[in-house]
Amino acid sequence: MVDWQLWCTANHYRVRPGAQLGQLATAFHYRRSQVVAPQKTGKGPWAAAGIAFEAVGPAVFVGWARGGEVYDCRDYGCGCGFQFVYEPGDPMGRPWPTPLIQLTATAEDQTDNVYRPLVAMIKGGALADLIPKTGEEFIRLPNDGRIDVVTSSARSRLGQPVTYVLQDETGIWTKASGMPKVADTQRRGLAGMGGRSTETTNCWDPSEESTAQLTAEATVQDIFRFHRVPPAHLSYRNKVERRQIHRFVYAGSWWVDLDAIEAEAAELLERDPAQAERFFGNRIVHGAGSWLREGLWESRKVAA
Ligand SMILES: [Zn+2]
Repeated sequence: MVDWQLWCTANHYRVRPGAQLGQLATAFHYRRSQVVAPQKTGKGPWAAAGIAFEAVGPAVFVGWARGGEVYDCRDYGCGCGFQFVYEPGDPMGRPWPTPLIQLTATAEDQTDNVYRPLVAMIKGGALADLIPKTGEEFIRLPNDGRIDVVTSSARSRLGQPVTYVLQDETGIWTKASGMPKVADTQRRGLAGMGGRSTETTNCWDPSEESTAQLTAEATVQDIFRFHRVPPAHLSYRNKVERRQIHRFVYAGSWWVDLDAIEAEAAELLERDPAQAERFFGNRIVHGAGSWLREGLWESRKVAA
């Protein structure tokens, strides 16, 4: 993982010092996470790795080590040869007995961003042993677990006792899409199982009240939120400053070609500047179709 990915992973799995054996979601510092990052930073593969971990990795807290205890993949039917000897005070883990995971997006092609790298990771590595078959819409896991793809048109699996949920591109989970209800239902299912969830998204249009926006604006403290907002003095309309913004928001994602990002951003800027700034500049800005320009309504208010 590159720096920002590791930072998000470490925070999502940060264990509370007072965590006790038997606690599930409550063993962790955060109940859920939200990662806001621009187009092509590597959110999809990162989210796929998270799903793979929740599927067969030691995602459940099982107490603190005295030292010398061993995590051995073979105990869970995996032949990859991974072993880990715990130091005194390490949090120990084991896989979920029957993981039930949902990969959620508004539409089928949206789920590809995560599902494709997930299938590639499974087929191309040690997980092929544990997970011999990957289907189009679901992946069967050992111990009767599954990973299901859930979209707005295929909601039959909602309300299930899920152990982990990825909610992808929640910036377009608007009321009209019906997705905020899906998000609520999934969170209720997670609460019943002691499971947790992660949101990944581009920046949203603040006039749309998307799920991403509600999460970002929530006052609760038990959500880990990652959003690298570029310095306010830099203008996205200025080419030199835009370059600085890209350098800031894509830091660490070494596979990203900033010239290619600039080319795509420049083209989109001509047509839909707000979208370009959201997608590539990682800033929350109103869409071009806003009813009123920002601040106009407020400026006409008469004090009663
Ligand atoms: Zn293994």
